[in-house]
Amino acid sequence: MRGRPHPDEARTGCLEGRGRPRPAPAPAAPPTSTPRRADKYARRRYRPDRRSPESRKPVTLSAPAPSSAIDALFTNARLPDGRLVAIAVGGGRFVSFGETPATDAGVPVTDLGGALVSPSFVEGHIHLDTSFIGDVWKPHRPCTNGFDVRERVAFQMDLLSTAAPMAHRARAQLELCVANGTLRMRSHVMIDGSVGLKHLEPVLEVREAARDLIDIQLVAFPQSGILTCPGTAEVMDEAIAAGCDLVGGLDPAIVDRDIEKHLDVVFGIAEKRGVGVDIHLHDAHMLGVFEIEQIAARTAALGMQGHVAVSHAYALGEVSTDQAKRTADIIAKAGVAIMTNAPGAHGFPPVTLLRAAGVTVFSGSDNIRDSWWPYGDGDMLSRANIIGYRSGFYTDAELESVFDVVTTAGATALRLGDYGLVPGASADFVVIPAAHVPEAVAALPRERKVYRRGKLVAEGGKLVA
Ligand SMILES: [Zn+2]
Repeated sequence: MRGRPHPDEARTGCLEGRGRPRPAPAPAAPPTSTPRRADKYARRRYRPDRRSPESRKPVTLSAPAPSSAIDALFTNARLPDGRLVAIAVGGGRFVSFGETPATDAGVPVTDLGGALVSPSFVEGHIHLDTSFIGDVWKPHRPCTNGFDVRERVAFQMDLLSTAAPMAHRARAQLELCVANGTLRMRSHVMIDGSVGLKHLEPVLEVREAARDLIDIQLVAFPQSGILTCPGTAEVMDEAIAAGCDLVGGLDPAIVDRDIEKHLDVVFGIAEKRGVGVDIHLHDAHMLGVFEIEQIAARTAALGMQGHVAVSHAYALGEVSTDQAKRTADIIAKAGVAIMTNAPGAHGFPPVTLLRAAGVTVFSGSDNIRDSWWPYGDGDMLSRANIIGYRSGFYTDAELESVFDVVTTAGATALRLGDYGLVPGASADFVVIPAAHVPEAVAALPRERKVYRRGKLVAEGGKLVA
C-alpha cells in the first residue's frame, strides 16, 4: 500500500518533546547540485586514513599463496561465470581456480559434483538488536487507529522489555544468516538519547565472539531522530569511539524536520571520526529525491565517494523515470550506494535503471521478525529472488543482476577488499545445488553448504560447528 509507512519507517523511540510545536517540514525544493554548506565541507577534506580498520583493508588482493601451501581441494566446482574448475585453498584463502593442481598426500579433496559455487552473500542492512529470532513468537500488534509511530514505538518498548536477552537474540539472528550463506554483514544498532549505548554493548560482544564465523560492520543508527531526541548526537559520536564503523541517519525531513542540521550532525561525525555514512531514508517522492541529492552533494564535497550509502530510498521508485534517471546520474557521480530490500508495501528504487547509471545497488533483510513486522528469513538468495520478483525480472541477465546485488555489489558498497572468488581472498563461499546463477535465484535451493576460510560451517540451513 503506497503511503502506508513501512515497518522500518520513522522508527521513533525518543518520545520526549514530541508534543511541542515543530517548524514546518522543509519544502520539496528542486534539486540542486551544491548544498548551501558545501564550502565548509570542501575546506575540511575527508581523511580516509582515519577510517575503521575494516574500511582500511586494501581493495587489491594479496598475491596467491604458493601451491605447496594447499591444504584443501574442491573439484567439479561450477563458478558463476559457468566455468567448471577445481578450487584450491590454503591457510583459509583461495589459492587457485582452474585445473586440478598437484597437492601433497593427505590433502582432503571434496567433489562438489558440478554444483554452483558462489561467493558468500553480503547482508548489507539488518538490525541485530531488535529481532525476536531466538525468542518465542511474538504476534504482531496492529495499531489501533491506523499507523501511528508513537504507538508502534510503545509496542516495541513493551515487547523488548520482556524479550530474551539481546545478546542471545542477536547471536541467533546472526547464526540464521550464516546458515543461509551470509558471511559479511552490516547491522544498524539503535543509538539515541533515550537508550544511549545500551543496545550497542551486547551487540559489540556478539560481534567479537562471532569473528571466526562472520565479519560485521555496525552503524550508529539514530532510530529516534537526532535533533528531536536530545543527547543523540553526542551518543552517536560515542558509539563510533566505542566500535561502530559508520554513522547513520534517519529521514532528515520527516523525522527531524531540518535536513541541513540533521546532515550537519551525520557528516560532521563522519568527518571527525573518519568513518562512512549509511542513512535510512524513507521520505517520499520529490522530498526524498531532494534529500538524496543533498546527501550526494555533501558526499562529493567531502571527497567521500564510495563511503556513503542511502538505505531504502523509496523516493527513487516513486518519481517519474526521467526524474529517477537524472537523480541516478547525480548519485553515480557522487559514488553513493543505494540499499533496497524491496519491501512489499512500498515503491522501491529501480534496480536496472540505477545499475545502468553506474550506481552500486546492494541489499539486506532489514527487519527480521521484530515488533514492526513478522517477515524475514535471513537468506540473501531469497532476498535476491524477492527483488527480482518485484522488479519483474525474467531473463537470465536480470536474474544475474540481482545475484550481483547480494554478492559482489554488496561487497563494493561495504568496501570489502578481502572478498570474492579470486586467488588470495578469504575462502568464504557457498555451494548451491543449482546448475547456474539464474536457476539458483529462481529455485532457492536450501541444501547449501557454507564454507568460512575453507572450513564447512553450515549445511542444509544449520550450523555444523
Ligand atoms: Zn533498517
